[in-house]
Amino acid sequence: MKSFFRKDILEMSGYVPGEQPKEKGIVKLNTNENPFPPSRKIKKYLSTLDIGILRLYPNPESCELRKIIADKFAVKESNVIVGNGSDDILNMIVRCCTDKKKTMAYFDPSYSLYPVLAEIQGTECVKISLEKDFSIPTEIPRKGLDSSLFMITRPNAPTSNSFPKKRIREICSKSKGIVLVDEAYADFAEDDCIDLLGKYKNLVICRTLSKSYSLAGIRLGFAIASEEIISQMMKVKDSYNVNRISQEIAKIAILDNENFERNINLIKSNRKFLIDSLRKKGFKVIDSQTNFVFAAPPGKSGKNAKETYLHLKKNRVLVRYFPGKTTGKYLRITVGTKLELDKLISLI
Ligand SMILES: *Cc1c(COP(=O)(O)O)cnc(C)c1O
Repeated sequence: MKSFFRKDILEMSGYVPGEQPKEKGIVKLNTNENPFPPSRKIKKYLSTLDIGILRLYPNPESCELRKIIADKFAVKESNVIVGNGSDDILNMIVRCCTDKKKTMAYFDPSYSLYPVLAEIQGTECVKISLEKDFSIPTEIPRKGLDSSLFMITRPNAPTSNSFPKKRIREICSKSKGIVLVDEAYADFAEDDCIDLLGKYKNLVICRTLSKSYSLAGIRLGFAIASEEIISQMMKVKDSYNVNRISQEIAKIAILDNENFERNINLIKSNRKFLIDSLRKKGFKVIDSQTNFVFAAPPGKSGKNAKETYLHLKKNRVLVRYFPGKTTGKYLRITVGTKLELDKLISLI
């Protein structure tokens, strides 16, 4: 059997998603899902859905949805592509830009899917370590800037901090390839890089409805970039990559700005509560620009993070623990409801 598979695939280990427990009643603060409900208008759509239309393929180019996204960001429909989650978008860009002879750069730690996508493609990775405080190093290695693709998570995951926009501008202007800024958490942050799109033709911005729109279940992500880049990505995507129901739900959600704003404000206020509470318990907490916090329990050794993770898990509260030299001292904790956070804090 083994000989049927490519060597790269046999040797890689694959992406490991956060745990999705089957049991009920678990406080789930491990995969950055939003604890608040999505737009109520979705319910009305689903309850009146004519199942007869499900016989038909969806619009292959998600035209209406792309128009709504384009209007929101004051760009053209031809500047937008949508995907089955932003993971689909990341996959498309990696397939578009990299091969065995090219390289892909990314910061470490950042979203752990990037190197997995590169491995599948057989592309060499240029991993650039962030500084101890999780900032971008002053000197970005030439090999990173020479890569055909540079992936940046901003605000960053799992560290929750953002990077100065000046550094993003610097990377865009010095890079020989495409720079993808993954803005999965930008709606929770002080700023974003949308205004850089007009300036840098090699910039791609990637967004998702999974976090700030409470819609991880419909799998909807999108990218905004120059027409030239989008048209190449269009060739690579699956023909019907976003299903009919997800296209409709996404349209409703993006147009319901009131629910969106309320949701973001609730997360921000709960985030402040979580950070303050953890700091009172002696945790070192990174200033978060996301819907999660990155927090190190008191004490020097990384042992405490793992023990806290296991203690919480035993008491049916799931958070994320990433073993490793830098990340192993911390826990990544999603901002939940006040009730969920109270339970977490009382266990610490
Ligand atoms: C959650 C997340 C994604 C994935 O989003 P989906 O749209 O659910 O696929 C992409 N990038 C980062 C940094 C994320 O944290």
